[in-house]
Amino acid sequence: MASHTPSNKTLTLDSTHLFLTIQSSPSNFLTFPPIPSTFPPSKHIPKTRFLIDAFRHASDFSVSYFLSHFHSDHYTGLSPSWSKGIIFCSDITSRLLIQVLKVEPKFVFALPIQERVVIDDCEVVLVEANHCPGAVQFLFKVPCKNDRFERYVHTGDFRFCKAMILEPVMSEFVGCDGVFLDTTYCNPKFVFPSQEESVEYIVNVIKRIGGECSNALGKNVLFLIATYVIGKEKILLEVSRKCNRKIIVDARKMEVLRVLGYGENGVFTPDESESDVHVVGWNVLGETWPYFRPNFVRMQEIMVERGYAKVVGFVPTGWTYEVKRNKFAVRSKDSFEIHLVPYSEHSNYDELREYVKFLKPKRVIPTVGMDIEKLDSKHANKMRKYFAGLVDETANKKEFLMGFQRGAHEIDHKDEVGGGPDE
Ligand SMILES: [Zn+2]
Repeated sequence: MASHTPSNKTLTLDSTHLFLTIQSSPSNFLTFPPIPSTFPPSKHIPKTRFLIDAFRHASDFSVSYFLSHFHSDHYTGLSPSWSKGIIFCSDITSRLLIQVLKVEPKFVFALPIQERVVIDDCEVVLVEANHCPGAVQFLFKVPCKNDRFERYVHTGDFRFCKAMILEPVMSEFVGCDGVFLDTTYCNPKFVFPSQEESVEYIVNVIKRIGGECSNALGKNVLFLIATYVIGKEKILLEVSRKCNRKIIVDARKMEVLRVLGYGENGVFTPDESESDVHVVGWNVLGETWPYFRPNFVRMQEIMVERGYAKVVGFVPTGWTYEVKRNKFAVRSKDSFEIHLVPYSEHSNYDELREYVKFLKPKRVIPTVGMDIEKLDSKHANKMRKYFAGLVDETANKKEFLMGFQRGAHEIDHKDEVGGGPDE
């Protein structure tokens, strides 16, 4: 893995040169065929060969690949045999690629966060995406005629927070030429609480039930929190801090947490005797797709195996219809209860609008759609309407409309299992 050494000088890279130097039989030059017109526009930065989260579309027309974060729907196409180009990403993502996915280190180039680097004559800055660990947004300044730049923001998957618009570099992207936007929840029907409210809910349930049952002798209530391989770690860290408990994880999860830098902080341990808060795999408490179906049989087995008298489970869903007036859904049976807690690492509708309002881009290019068949111009127009009045309407209107048509037919699948909306 190539890494960045801090210095006052801007890091300047040439991806073709980087790629040629790692070939087993180096040659002096590469010629690239044009990027095909059928290439998904939501994954290509105009006037460059920069391809974002596009490994399954990789070919000989580029050696400059960017990965926004380590969720499988974004890195599909990467494997230990990857050899088609240099992968630029954050430091955390680079470690996950090398240590978990076993991509050859020579193809992986970690870039610093919030620092200007120059790649193939374009300025690139990575900023926090508030999604999973290592997730970043990419900001690009692409040189064009008369010493001018075209500016693009690619959000990857992100959850907007106010801190983002306070980043000094962000102000340089107000009025940018395009924002490639995580439109997972781009519809007013998706309303969900802040992450803090959802965490507070879980903490309160653990304190309340843990307290009620604290008089009895011996092991009593087991708390189970369902998670994916990576993502939603903030819930676990906050529960540990606020409930003053360690968090039990299995060996595989522990390995990933070590890569993320959470191995040595004393929060996580594989020793089940150390705490009554245990992490389980995503589908252990029940199937979440297309709607939640609890698995009380499995809960019973876990209760007996681990020697408890009652089990309380939490499933941090992305979004659920079941939220009614700030009350989250609870399923219970005998000694078991499961709390469905909406906790999203994607922006909701209001947050998307706030970000676009701040950036006031010439156009919005949606990167995620619900159903590829429906992402025709009708669907794109509907999404465009959500941002009416927030984009720069003085920009060339024809170009704006064309950009929309170009930008609206690629779809991503949801983050791992169950990461998308529960419909
Ligand atoms: Zn994701």
